[in-house]
Amino acid sequence: MLQSIPLEKALQILHEFSAPRGIEEIAVAEAFGRILAEDIIAGFPLPPFNRSPLDGYALMAEDTFSAAKDNPVRLKLTQTVYAGELPSAPVIKGETTAITTGAPLPSGTNAIIKFEDIKKDGDYILIFSPLKPGDNFVPAGEDVVEGEKILVIGEKITPASLGLLVSLGRGTVKVFRKPRIAVFSCGDELLDIGQPRQTGKIYNSNLYAITAQITEAGGLAVPIKSVPDDKNKIASALNQALQENDLVITTGGVSVGEKDYVKEAIKISNINTLFWKVGMKPGTPAVCGERDGQLVIGLSGNPAASMITFVLLARPIIQSICGKKGENLPEVKAVMDVPFKKKSGQRRFMRAVLTWKDGIYHAAPAGIQSPGALKSMLQCNALIDIPKGHGPLDIGDEVKALLLPEGYCM
Ligand code: AMP
Ligand code: MG
Repeated sequence: MLQSIPLEKALQILHEFSAPRGIEEIAVAEAFGRILAEDIIAGFPLPPFNRSPLDGYALMAEDTFSAAKDNPVRLKLTQTVYAGELPSAPVIKGETTAITTGAPLPSGTNAIIKFEDIKKDGDYILIFSPLKPGDNFVPAGEDVVEGEKILVIGEKITPASLGLLVSLGRGTVKVFRKPRIAVFSCGDELLDIGQPRQTGKIYNSNLYAITAQITEAGGLAVPIKSVPDDKNKIASALNQALQENDLVITTGGVSVGEKDYVKEAIKISNINTLFWKVGMKPGTPAVCGERDGQLVIGLSGNPAASMITFVLLARPIIQSICGKKGENLPEVKAVMDVPFKKKSGQRRFMRAVLTWKDGIYHAAPAGIQSPGALKSMLQCNALIDIPKGHGPLDIGDEVKALLLPEGYCM
């Protein structure tokens, strides 16, 4: 069994099992936030026809070249075209068409004058200054040309992508199937929401924090009741979770304690252990296994450690299974504003608050850094990646910071 491997190596191993789990075609109305499983090519231009961007009069710019304040040009008003209608005739020299915003332009016209800029005179309009060809003229395809690739496989569907899909007449879209991700915690000390407090016991907070993290990553979280520290019970929970889901995340019971049974349960369930222990603090004892291409990711039970290991180890894999390129967290440089006294015997991911000041990120530790201290995750918007063997950090030291996903921080 591989043991104590670098995070990058762990990710590389897990990525062998991170292919998307299928494609489904869903209604555009349901597609916000999903990951595209097809390229979108425009079947027709946008806008689909030459149109007016304002309420006014469509005309031939050439007719207005001699217009002046004291010598207006007179054009005959022959028709009105409202948005949604079609012109009944082309415009010829000396004529104009009243037109509303979004209405198709009659052929022959190459400019539109604003409603407010003319004077009406019976069936004529008076124009007091010249227009150039193309003034206020929105040509077909100004936004999107026919045949243009506007959305690409692997992109997240945004409000604007929904608008474009519908503009192109699409009612459905192919997206990657959301992986079902089971999550459960192991521990005799765990209480569920609603159970009365008991001395020596704690509430199963990881289930909810990790469920939210799965949702943020794009997975379909399947929360499961906690399992006691019993190897056979954990093995049977793993078995069932693997049968019904694409991936299983557990927390607790992965370290070296007498009742840390997840590693053994993985063996009992015929899951192939890929590795145990990752060179990172917090969250070192993570264990990962695979059965028939399905992954089990076992995280430490410490609430902050499990969240941090999730975001660094599980999230890129989940995103990749969701069809998104397996992106790691964005990396920026920052300078320390506050010292951090501890040495880092192991590579450490320090919870930090990053602020942007004077063209540079400034970093400060987010609070207590112990793996069980969850409150520090509230204000924390970044993890400082401190290399193994690094000494204490001083004010002004330059550090590498990983930006946590939007939605993690208050
Ligand atoms: P373990 O990884 O099982 O050794 O647990 C490490 C620490 O995390 C212990 O203090 C546990 O009580 C705590 N812990 C384990 N599971 C959970 C959980 N689901 N929610 C909150 N704390 C937990
Ligand atoms: Mg435990």
